[in-house]
Amino acid sequence: MITVGLIGDPVAHSVSPAMHNAAFAHYELPERYALWPTPAAALAHRLTALRAAGMRGANVTLPHKTAVIGLLDELDPVAAAVGAVNTIVRLPDGRLRGLNTDVAGFLRALAQAGIDPAGRAVVVLGAGGAARAVGYGLITAGVESLVVANRTVARAAALVDDLRAATGSRSRLRAIALDDAALGAALAAAEVLINATSAGLHAETLPVPEAALGPHLLVVDLIYRPTPLLRAATARGARVQDGREMLVQQGALAFEAWTGLAAPLEIMRAAAHAALKEQM
Ligand code: NAP
Repeated sequence: MITVGLIGDPVAHSVSPAMHNAAFAHYELPERYALWPTPAAALAHRLTALRAAGMRGANVTLPHKTAVIGLLDELDPVAAAVGAVNTIVRLPDGRLRGLNTDVAGFLRALAQAGIDPAGRAVVVLGAGGAARAVGYGLITAGVESLVVANRTVARAAALVDDLRAATGSRSRLRAIALDDAALGAALAAAEVLINATSAGLHAETLPVPEAALGPHLLVVDLIYRPTPLLRAATARGARVQDGREMLVQQGALAFEAWTGLAAPLEIMRAAAHAALKEQM
């Protein structure tokens, strides 16, 4: 019985089915997580189907994380502040509530790496949906400063403005271009670097000056596998984390929101890692 699924376009490479079906199997529930490839024109119809009795909800991925908001009945405060939904919960009366588990999933992944961002200087690369969730999480966790570096600097500036408005933050926030010479100085002063761009899986050139990487940094790349950036950071003595832990943590929070059951984290982690390994 399909009770949850992934709404996006494309969705074929997602490992969320493996992760959630392992969790359902752990609880001996006869439920399945499906892939629901959904072009924009079919989004409203997909959400209507989600209101049916027996459905638990959905995950939402590119390109619908923002567009879906107008089709939901209510939003939790984090999703409203970030302006993006990655999880939908069907309420008992058929209404649909939007959540954003990327934010808490990211912070839990950082905690797994032994980092509390409070009072720290952080650099985030990227200004898309992932950077938005990461930036919101970091500011609400109390970072001392946040530099957002993006290829298109206007998007970084818009993100910083939005984050300031959404959080009323007193953290020092700054937007720069990815190729700005100031990035090196920002990294020298930072304790954490997050790559939230989609560039870099195969790219030979690093998104930051290699010499700026060092043992003073934890480098997190949201991409789900080791990247050239993480390899270079490791070689220069930095601690590193790839995007798998955030993937697992956001999934665990979604599973708990749908079912009210404690997510079997080890089982979900093992299933996600195995499914990703198969794709390599
Ligand atoms: P998005 O909204 O499409 O944003 C893409 C970002 O990457 C933008 O900042 C874009 O810069 C930048 N970018 C793309 N190509 C680039 C290039 N060649 N050089 C430099 N910058 C480039 O995507 P998203 O949803 O934020 O996702 C970003 C990454 O995070 C993806 O790899 C995704 O898989 C990952 N992610 C991971 C998790 C997790 O759980 N681990 C969760 C969400 C996302 P411009 O603004 O200049 O175009």
